[in-house]
Amino acid sequence: MSGIYIHIPFCKKACTYCDFHFSTSLKYVDEMVDAICLEIIKKKDRITDQVGTIYFGGGTPSVLPTKHFEKIFDTIIKNFTVSSDAEITIEANPDDLTGPKILELRKLPVNRFSIGVQSFFEEDLIWMNRAHNALEAETSIKRSQDAGFENLSIDLIYGYPLLTDSKWLTNINKAIEFEIPHISAYSLTVEPKTALAVAIKRGKDIPLNDEQSASQFITLIDKLTTGGFEHYEISNFSKPGKYAVHNTNYWRGVTYLGIGPSAHGFNGNVRYLNIANNAAYLSSMELGKIPETIEELDLYDRFNEYIMTSLRTMWGTSLSKIESEFGKFFLADTLKTMESFVERDWLYQEDNHLKLTTDGKLFADYIASELFLSAEDHR
Ligand code: SF4
Repeated sequence: MSGIYIHIPFCKKACTYCDFHFSTSLKYVDEMVDAICLEIIKKKDRITDQVGTIYFGGGTPSVLPTKHFEKIFDTIIKNFTVSSDAEITIEANPDDLTGPKILELRKLPVNRFSIGVQSFFEEDLIWMNRAHNALEAETSIKRSQDAGFENLSIDLIYGYPLLTDSKWLTNINKAIEFEIPHISAYSLTVEPKTALAVAIKRGKDIPLNDEQSASQFITLIDKLTTGGFEHYEISNFSKPGKYAVHNTNYWRGVTYLGIGPSAHGFNGNVRYLNIANNAAYLSSMELGKIPETIEELDLYDRFNEYIMTSLRTMWGTSLSKIESEFGKFFLADTLKTMESFVERDWLYQEDNHLKLTTDGKLFADYIASELFLSAEDHR
């Protein structure tokens, strides 16, 4: 089954660390929803099987009025066959999840919220320039659960200067106490051109500390796995079987459509990248043209993509898949490169799969990049 990702490029405020594509002006929301619906119609032939997941990401999808979600769902249902048990997720910010809004969303086909909590501490949320406060972080979860949204995920951030180890423990424990089945936790990174990067450069904020981040990551793994969560992907933890289906499908190379400015789509061989600019997206869609660039992935791109995504998961990288899909050369190179990481106790082999140890998880991107191959390697 395939997936549909819809990017809603609007936010109430700009978080200091964020480099996603969004606008804080909600002026063109109506036009954007019309353009998104048109793009859905234009891409109807790109999916031939059932749709198993729909994911509204952003930006902040929860800023959309309910009537706009209705319009998008109507368009999807008219143009695709959506599986009766499809996972349908909306990323939501706590301040948007008011009682009435949750009840409105309950009437839609939505069955999962991914709530951008980030921290339960007021001063942290202020430092991040989040639109919500600490009280809303908690009430949004409680209200969603009371309204019958059991399939919840929350996002947390660690590794920033204000987050002491004791506050981090409190954030983790609160998430466990809410009995949320899924938690995504991200180490804060300083992306170029963000307000955080500028503040650090000007000496108004202190640089991030890698050791703090690593130790908070280890605490996270320890607490959540002890609390009954599976660490199924570097940044994702779930109660058994409660994996995020949409995201897991990305890592498995399943076909998905990307709709909206900056959205990406993939069909196994080709990646589609929409323009990351609201005005340019709208004017192109007005002319009936999808503003996308198309990237054909060659064997090496697909191999590197497989390494990058599979290694981050608890299922690991299948050595037999490398041999059957990419060939003996790829397998031989992988086996050779992995040796030094096995010696360092960062990788291990289990059931013919390559997996990260806990220490290895701290260096996942580096290890994956060392395993990458290019055409030059085989000349
Ligand atoms: S709400 Fe999300 S997308 Fe919007 S600015 Fe904050 S982190 Fe970025």
